[in-house]
Amino acid sequence: MNSLTDTADQVADMLDEAYYRGGRPQFHGKTPRSKSTSFTPLARMTELLERDEDAGRWILAQKDKNSFAQSLYEQSVIKGYVLSEKQIAAAKRGYDKDMRQETVSTLPETFFKGILDLMEGARAGKGKKEGLKFPAIRFGGMKIYYSTRRPNDPDLAVYRTEGEVGFLGKITTPDGKFQPYIWRNGKIPATQADLDKLAKLEGNPEEQLAAEGKRLGICMICNAELSNPESVERGIGPICAGRFFG
Ligand SMILES: [Zn+2]
Repeated sequence: MNSLTDTADQVADMLDEAYYRGGRPQFHGKTPRSKSTSFTPLARMTELLERDEDAGRWILAQKDKNSFAQSLYEQSVIKGYVLSEKQIAAAKRGYDKDMRQETVSTLPETFFKGILDLMEGARAGKGKKEGLKFPAIRFGGMKIYYSTRRPNDPDLAVYRTEGEVGFLGKITTPDGKFQPYIWRNGKIPATQADLDKLAKLEGNPEEQLAAEGKRLGICMICNAELSNPESVERGIGPICAGRFFG
């Protein structure tokens, strides 16, 4: 592996990390410049990934396998040109296509419409309760939430918080189809066990969240320790119960 490839991996890892944390990546304390004023391949790679993460990932992952990706890589990272909107769009299509192929080959198509409805309900608000901007729930060592990093994204993010932590994929609108996340090396971090846990939650969200909250002594919605006897018995805090289940 040459040093440039190593660097590309490091940049992509930093972006992954930042994505998981819901923040903005920091590159040695400097925010990368957005136009073609960068002179090093690292800075250009960073620009590319910042401009469009999916397109950038695809170009970096495919540059040694696909001649089109290679040409985009040479133009943007080696020569320092700003890619056109058309080129970015084409790279995005490449990413989407690869993603679909991988997805079909490993995990079964699964839908979590019940979870999506629950979260959309919390977002919309119930009764007199105002909706939450970024509702989140925890279940089975996973966090299911709307990403603060992507406020206009209607899809739900699924993140594994225990064991091998990391972003697992999305529960997408409008039908709740699960779209597994794919690492640039082709690895799919979500497993059948994760899907089984989501299916369990999907079956009866209120009962499942309450049962797990009761077991752990924590509200699975706001993550607060349950203290008053009624909440401990119920397995969920009164405010959260109102917001999610009316
Ligand atoms: Zn709560």
